[in-house]
Amino acid sequence: MSHVTRFAPSPTGYLHLGHAFAALTAWRRARDSGGRFLLRLEDIDAGRCRPEFSEAVLEDLAWLGIDWDGPVRVQSAHRQEYRAVLDRLASRALLYPCFCTRAEIAREVAAAAGAPQGPDGPRYPGTCRTVSAGARAARCASGVPYALRLDMARALAVAPAGLMVSEEGEAPVSCDPRPFGDVVLGRKDMPASYHVCVIHDDARQGVTLVTRGSDLKPATHLHRLLQALLDLPAPNYHHYPLIADNLGNRLAKRNDAVTLRSLRSAGTTPSDIRARFGL
Ligand code: GLU
Repeated sequence: MSHVTRFAPSPTGYLHLGHAFAALTAWRRARDSGGRFLLRLEDIDAGRCRPEFSEAVLEDLAWLGIDWDGPVRVQSAHRQEYRAVLDRLASRALLYPCFCTRAEIAREVAAAAGAPQGPDGPRYPGTCRTVSAGARAARCASGVPYALRLDMARALAVAPAGLMVSEEGEAPVSCDPRPFGDVVLGRKDMPASYHVCVIHDDARQGVTLVTRGSDLKPATHLHRLLQALLDLPAPNYHHYPLIADNLGNRLAKRNDAVTLRSLRSAGTTPSDIRARFGL
């Protein structure tokens, strides 16, 4: 079976060894199966992404010997599409505006003593879910910034029954996105959250196999629900353990993990990197 895979970095820093593994994994799966390998720049968070990092992604991939099919999809060029996705969910009353600040949510969670923990942090206690339609409209009109949250209970009530999540090499499991609670899908500071953009883009780009780190495995349940609500096809998934440094710490841009640029200037070659991963 030929796979359509993708590498979808957020250009918030230079690519490091973890990204090299992610890109090589997706690229090999596509090339070995005679499929297509796509590139997407997840630069929707304008506050954290920088154009020079986007350029560096292309250069570093080319240095690694990775080629991609078709044009690069750049999320910041598709803001209207993400807006339209949110509008579709809103038209079915699956979203509600949330006016809470982070500090207010932290206080509410503390007051609720033991609010359940979701994959992205403590589960939102639902404060704004019960604000009356009139009060909502007035607050939105007054220009107070707000996020858009999924009404999880409603979403589950209207979603088709029996949704399954498929991880390659594992038996399908039933989709259970409830740990996310009323997750934020529309953000105050950017057009839509990662969860909305990723399922829209994977469908738009015709991705059939999503390969990514196991930190995102729980999110697959939320993604499956959103795909069902939006009539999008569900790709197959392959999550791999995150690459750790020599001390066993997860590699991340923020902890100065070894970037491909610094490895390169220290004399590391692309074949050294491929050999390290057996790719
Ligand atoms: N932009 C995301 C990241 O860099 C990609 C997540 C995904 O592959 O779905 O972690």
